[in-house]
Amino acid sequence: MEWCVSMPKIELHAHLNGSIRDSTLLELARELGDKGVIVFSDVEHVILKNDRALSEVFKLFDLIHIITTDHKTVTRITKEVVEDFAADNVVYLELRTTPKRNDSKGMSKRSYLEAVLEGLRYVNSVEVDLSHKLKPDISTQSHAVDDKCNGTGSKKIYVRLLLSIDRRETAEAAMETVNLALEMRDSGVVGIDLSGNPIIGEWLTFLPALEFAKKQGLPITLHCGEVPNPDEIHAMLDFLPRRIGHACCFGDDDWNLLKRLKIPVEICLTSNLRTETIASVDIHHFGDLYKSNHPLILCTDDSGVFSTSLSAEYLLASSTFGLGKKEMFELSEKAIEFIFACDGVKRELQMTFATALKKLN
Ligand code: 5GP
Repeated sequence: MEWCVSMPKIELHAHLNGSIRDSTLLELARELGDKGVIVFSDVEHVILKNDRALSEVFKLFDLIHIITTDHKTVTRITKEVVEDFAADNVVYLELRTTPKRNDSKGMSKRSYLEAVLEGLRYVNSVEVDLSHKLKPDISTQSHAVDDKCNGTGSKKIYVRLLLSIDRRETAEAAMETVNLALEMRDSGVVGIDLSGNPIIGEWLTFLPALEFAKKQGLPITLHCGEVPNPDEIHAMLDFLPRRIGHACCFGDDDWNLLKRLKIPVEICLTSNLRTETIASVDIHHFGDLYKSNHPLILCTDDSGVFSTSLSAEYLLASSTFGLGKKEMFELSEKAIEFIFACDGVKRELQMTFATALKKLN
């Protein structure tokens, strides 16, 4: 496990509310229990349960949202989640979250996002880079970059945000999220995600907002093929998203199209196993995609809900598919190509990996 931890890593598929520490969730649930808002003993076992089918996971998210959706808590969990990823030597994190409106808490999608940004400012175990702008002289950055990875967590983490559209939302709410992302582009928002329960909602509902985002140059990633739905999978691939997540229920035609289009896939091994969308890890499509040299990125999805970490995902892929440290390092480095941040960040990350490689050898 040690080498997986000390290796710099890039996380491109992590949901904020799925990445909360169990200890924080339990503490918050206990507080709400004391206030009589929920019955703590009813929710405790739900939080601590490890194996859940996909449908049960979405019930858990509804519970998590009751516990976390107020400004102060959103700020707290954002800070903790970023610190946890940094402690695992994640050097670039694309954190996704669904901006939520909650009238009873005076919360709008915008104020939700502001609470997330506040959380990023509170991070103190690591320097957070949220800026889009390429630093004028990269060479002056070199020692900051040099010391980013030392096996005890990264010293600097690039954090960029993806705003998620939940499949329960209306076309108008989806458009509101896209407009918010466009307004907040200079504050670290780099793209849009479509997620939420895959058996709810229609692709056509979200298409106008997604097309608008694309026209405005916002990169898009889609949760695609989590359940068998050939028409939707085809429509999603035809849309040419910059990346997709999961791709568990693809048919032969879908694989052919995906490979022809070379759309990178965010792979979440533990999540797919725990939700039983894949029967066992040795038959996971990671194996075929890796062998075919198809672009892919190992990710956690919901590190809190599925009790995992990015290092654990690398270790699982390595042990299941017989890949050594060198291959895993190369896989991690390759993810730089698929980030949504600008080329300046890509160049700095390449330097980070070059420095880490020298130290690891
Ligand atoms: P949030 O957006 O509230 O920060 O993170 C939790 C939300 O992310 C969930 O309510 C759900 O909409 C989405 N999500 C988390 N994990 C998954 C997953 O495995 N599949 C899909 N489709 N959506 C997910």
